[in-house]
Order: sequence, then C-alpha cells, then structure tokens
Amino acid sequence: MNSAGAAGSLRARLAARTRGLGPSPIGEAFRTAGDPGVIPLAAGSPAPEALPTAAVTRIAAELARTHPHALQYGDTSGLPELRELLAARHRHGTGRPTATGQVVITHGAQQGLDLICQALVDPGDTVVVDRPAYTGALQVLRLYRADVAAVPIAGDPGLERLTVLVRRRPVKAVHLVPDFANPSGRTLTSGQRAALAALAERYGFLIIEDNPYGELYFTPPAPRPPLSALSGRVITLGSFSKVLFPAARLGHLTAPSELATVFHTLKQAADLGNSALLQHLVLALLREPGLLRGQTARARAVYRERRDLLMDALRVFDGALRWEPPGGGFFLWARLPEHLDARALLAEALTEKVSFVPGTAFYPSAPDHSALRLSYSYAPLDSLREAAGRLHRAYLRLAGR
Ligand code: PMP
Repeated sequence: MNSAGAAGSLRARLAARTRGLGPSPIGEAFRTAGDPGVIPLAAGSPAPEALPTAAVTRIAAELARTHPHALQYGDTSGLPELRELLAARHRHGTGRPTATGQVVITHGAQQGLDLICQALVDPGDTVVVDRPAYTGALQVLRLYRADVAAVPIAGDPGLERLTVLVRRRPVKAVHLVPDFANPSGRTLTSGQRAALAALAERYGFLIIEDNPYGELYFTPPAPRPPLSALSGRVITLGSFSKVLFPAARLGHLTAPSELATVFHTLKQAADLGNSALLQHLVLALLREPGLLRGQTARARAVYRERRDLLMDALRVFDGALRWEPPGGGFFLWARLPEHLDARALLAEALTEKVSFVPGTAFYPSAPDHSALRLSYSYAPLDSLREAAGRLHRAYLRLAGR
C-alpha cells in the first residue's frame, strides 16, 4: 500500500512548523557552485587561496597523538581553553566582564541562530531583521514561527522605521549583521550602533549581533564599537568559518550571564557538543604565535583584491547595474534597473554559466526584485572578469526582450 493509503500521507505527519518548508536558497546556491563550468558568484564560501591549508595539515597530523582527548567526547559547551580565549577576546573588545561560562561553542554561527530562536521565540513573537536580511536567519526564524519584520537598520536612513515599530508593538529581538553584512555589505555607523543599543535598553528587546565578517575589513580600523560593548542585552555570534575554514563548523555564542545556562542546556540537547578534534585543531591554530594575525591579514588582502577586480569588471554594465562598494566581507549587493527582475536575470545567467543569488531570498516579504547578491569570495580570481562579462551578456538579453 502506498503512503497515502488508509494510514494517511506521510507529509500529514509533519509538525505544523515544518509542513510549509521548501528548499533552501542557500542549498540552491551551493548546488550551482558545484556545477563545473558555472562561475559561482552565488556561494559565500572562502577563497581556496585564503584557507590555512599548510598549518591545518601540519597540526592535524600531530593532534591525535599529542592530545588523546581530542578523540573523545568533550565538554558539551565547548573546549574550556577555547571558550576562555573567546571570553578574553570578548572582554577586550567590549570592556565588559565576560566569564568563560557565558561562551558556548556552536556548530557554526548558524547553530547559534537556531539555539537563540529555541531560547527566545514563541510562535507569533515579533523578531526584527535588517532589510535585506541574512537568509540563514530568515530560515531559522520561520521554523520557529516568528512574526518576522524586516526594516532597514544598516545604511540609509538607518533606524527611523525600527524606532516607529518598537514604539508600536513589543519586539522580542532584533537580528543584524553589523559589519559588512550578508547580503548588503553594509556596516552600521557608530551613531547607528549607539542608537540601536539605546532603543534596546529603552524598549527591552534583545539584540542578536551576528558578526562573522567583522575582521575582514579592507581599510583599517575595524568597525567599532561592537553592540555588546554598548548594551547588556546583546547575544553575540561569531564564526571561524570566514577567517579560518568553514569545515571546522566552529562558531561561538556569547550570552549575558542571566541567559547563558539556557544555552548550555540547549546545546547539550542538540548534539552533545562540537567535535573535540576540530576544537583542539582550531585552538592550536589560534595559539600559534602570529598565525591568526598573518592569516587574517592575508584574507583581507585576498578579498580586497577580489572586490576591486569584480567592481572594475562590472563597469562593462556602464551604469545599468548599481552597487554600494563594500568595505569588507564577501558580498557585493547590486541593483538592476527597477523594472527588471533578478530571478529572470539568473535564468539567463545560468545559460551563460554564471550564478548569483537573486535578492528575493533576503526578504521575508515585499522583496526587492531588482536586487542581487554577487559574492566575490569564492570563484577563481581570474574568472571574475569573465563572470562580469557573462552577467552582462545575460543582462543584455533580458533587457532586450
Ligand atoms: N551569519 C551570517 C551573517 C553568515 O553570513 C553566515 C555564513 N553564511 C553565518 C551566520 C553562518 O556561518 P557559520 O559557517 O559559522 O555557520
């Protein structure tokens, strides 16, 4: 008997929160990135030449012998030495006392988002995201049935819409990527940071400071101050994916001490802890004198060169594509003339064998159809000019229809 027989269809057994789930736009981006011949401006992966391959090879070869515990279960909330190192970094960056117990190692910042939603979001709670927003955050928020409101936070006009919204209705939390955001590339000004922190203090919402790209600035100084320096209502998410390597799947969550125990329990229930082996590996990388500094400096130079090359190559559009030059990170957020739809451009672009992510993926509602995210981080450096040429040919076909 088939599954739709007397016992009913299997999909009818899904929980209400998963019944409407479609394929993920990030999954789509990775699929096209794997297609040989397609130049992948879709995936936000690090550049192969920016990965610490030699250091990882050297340290990994020794690790199981020098650290037998690396093959065991470990502390569910993460390797204590690694958490202490991150707590010290947080103290230094924020000027706030931060105990090791406030830090939880997560499977990437992405798991941090999941744990935060588990901890905070009841169905129907209002959570504000930036407009445009990180797709991975939208995906998790939908799963927990948050009422997601997207308002512009970084860039112009800043916080006006958010201020109106928090005055009108209770907001549980605001998620944002303060530095070189995914997808917009924007960075909050120090004035916007202060205003956002003051709003959180006044109206009681939490801030989810999701910051995987902050170290990847192209011109010093680093964007400052972190929101967690300005308010005690901030949960910070960090990641080793962009500066070290994403296969470590190592992220970290730093919570105000009142909330921290909840995250330890949720992490335990989720997966009993990250791989001890990978945590020892990353700890060894972080402890090696000069390694992180050198690695980060190299990554900044790599991505800056890539950004410059892509922006230069896109001049082939002769003004028909507009963008805001990002000051760091992986992404160029661009706009077609308003009457054109980036999804239609993608269909043309894929026949030209170049991919990107249409802006639609970054809005919970009322998407800007003319926007697109081009990531310059991953495609081979010497393919970026060709990618811009292919994109332009795709655009000419679309516009000429
Ligand atoms: N937040 C943002 C803003 C991101 O861009 C990403 C990576 N795409 C993540 C979180 C997840 O990163 P991780 O690899 O640490 O899970």
